[in-house]
Amino acid sequence: MFLILVVLVIVASGAALGLQRPHYDRLDVWALPSYALVMVALQALLALRRIPLTTALRTAYLGGAIYVLLALYHQFQVMPTTSVTLMENTYWFAVIYAAAFLTLPSRAATLVTSGVLLLAAAICAWHVTRTVPAATQLRVAGSAVQFLLTGAVLIVLNRTIGVQHHRLMASRAAAFTDVLTGLANRRSAEERLAELATLGSGFTLVMFDLDHFKQVNDTHGHATGDLVLRGVAASARARVPSGGLAARWGGEEFLLILPPQPKDAVQAMLQALRSDLKAQQHGPVSGVTACFGVADARPGEHPDHVLARADAAMYTAKAQGRNDIRRSDTVIRPGQHDPAN
Ligand code: GH3
Ligand code: MG
Ligand code: MG
Repeated sequence: MFLILVVLVIVASGAALGLQRPHYDRLDVWALPSYALVMVALQALLALRRIPLTTALRTAYLGGAIYVLLALYHQFQVMPTTSVTLMENTYWFAVIYAAAFLTLPSRAATLVTSGVLLLAAAICAWHVTRTVPAATQLRVAGSAVQFLLTGAVLIVLNRTIGVQHHRLMASRAAAFTDVLTGLANRRSAEERLAELATLGSGFTLVMFDLDHFKQVNDTHGHATGDLVLRGVAASARARVPSGGLAARWGGEEFLLILPPQPKDAVQAMLQALRSDLKAQQHGPVSGVTACFGVADARPGEHPDHVLARADAAMYTAKAQGRNDIRRSDTVIRPGQHDPAN
């Protein structure tokens, strides 16, 4: 995505300089190649994973904002004495106002764009009152006021859209999060499973259910039960490797969606999780155990089938005495019991 920006900057800079040949603009002749070089350097740092995308975007933004302000100042110096309007490079301010809301949080973007607008206003005011010939002063002032007012309107519009976008993102995040534990909820897990169905890449599912959890509620109360669920969720989240997802599937049942990895790694991770649960102390409750059902996706197998196998393996562990990890090694249809377990 950033690469597209780099290419656009190089093409736009090259085209601008090409059109000016052979009388290059004093500012553009060094500023445009410098900006293009900065963009190439940022792309290289991104490719080498030396900086995150946000740093690249914000640095690119800063460079762009400085350039348009310099260009605004400079245009008054090279403006023909008969000119009554501002030059085309002011069009780029619209991009600067919009891009701020894409690269920065709403409040920061509002501050930055207001700063750019104020600087632009100061530059216009300085030149209109001091360097623009008296004969054209009023017309140039009118043009500058329109340029500044459209800037202000663009900032307000972008801020309104930015705030709405932020609210939308927040409610989307809430819709995919389990309120009690903060883990991904079932809807989120189902969405990930649907993605896996279209990707066709390998994955492993682990379904686990706490043992005799009803007794915890019955003996120590629902609030203590909730504490246990939060503790289990925190351990599951911490143990899932990067690229995986820990979700609360429902009640005291959790689903882990794991990226492809050796069987031993999955086993070691689950043993570590079992040790975590056993060691946790929630008020009077300790020694929490669970039954785990593990299923590796076979090539071409639908995630629902893998889920049914993990579920069946988990119920086998329940039936055979609890506090265990069971693997499912056969392909079955959803709802059908796995004959291997
Ligand atoms: P098993 O070993 O067979 O899984 O037995 P269990 O007692 O864990 O299973 P059962 O399905 O009989 O009971 C599950 C309990 O989980 C019943 C329900 O009240 C409790 N539960 C479900 N959601 C919550 C919750 O959000 N908070 C609390 N505290 N308890 C919950
Ligand atoms: Mg249970
Ligand atoms: Mg259950």
